[in-house]
Amino acid sequence: MNRRAFLGSAGVALSLGVAGRRAASTPDPVVVRVWFSESAATHDALEDRVEGYLGAALDEALDAAVELEFAPSTVALPHEGGKASLGMDWPVTVAEGLVGLGEVDPVGDVNLLVTDGDPRRQPAGYARPHVAAATGGAYIARMPPAEDLSAVVPYSVPAAATQLLLHEVGHALGATHAHGTARREGDALVASPMVGSYLWASERVREAQLADGSACGGAYPSDDGASERRLGLRYADCAAGALR
Ligand SMILES: [Zn+2]
Repeated sequence: MNRRAFLGSAGVALSLGVAGRRAASTPDPVVVRVWFSESAATHDALEDRVEGYLGAALDEALDAAVELEFAPSTVALPHEGGKASLGMDWPVTVAEGLVGLGEVDPVGDVNLLVTDGDPRRQPAGYARPHVAAATGGAYIARMPPAEDLSAVVPYSVPAAATQLLLHEVGHALGATHAHGTARREGDALVASPMVGSYLWASERVREAQLADGSACGGAYPSDDGASERRLGLRYADCAAGALR
């Protein structure tokens, strides 16, 4: 065998080996389908921001490829926020879609509704396995493009709404509040998406939502002495392990 033929055949064997390994270990892509309420759909930048921020966070957290799809039709809602709209009507709409009734065509991983509700009012979002709803469309659309920002940003309502989106999708993929982290960064306290704004909530809310502590190790630091609030826009490593 001359040298060229040998290298050629080795090259073929090598690429087959790589392809074979990839075929054996690559999980199916995680598909997130996104619907906007009629009102949320009026914000031109919203689709780009959801794709940018959610895509970056999921890409980093998941071993599988992530496919973000935007539904071609909008969802008519009687109310943009509130427990009935987010926590009952949307899951029922998705369930009806699964059996071929109604207007939406759900996917197996995450069916996300983004509305124009006020993210400062509770409940700002809602999730159960495979179904998520988040308010704050107008605020998310106001964020700069994801590629222009670092993964940790100062607290603002647009940033909190964007983090809420990650929080609810995290729940829909199996993460809990215990998969959040909070850490001091100089004078700032940084909350990861699964902890989010609960870190700065009243003692009563904090107790109710974060009572289990962090499964990521360590207690949540209090914000005593932390003069600045920052939000992480990537899942903590241990949340990433819990996703899906
Ligand atoms: Zn939550």
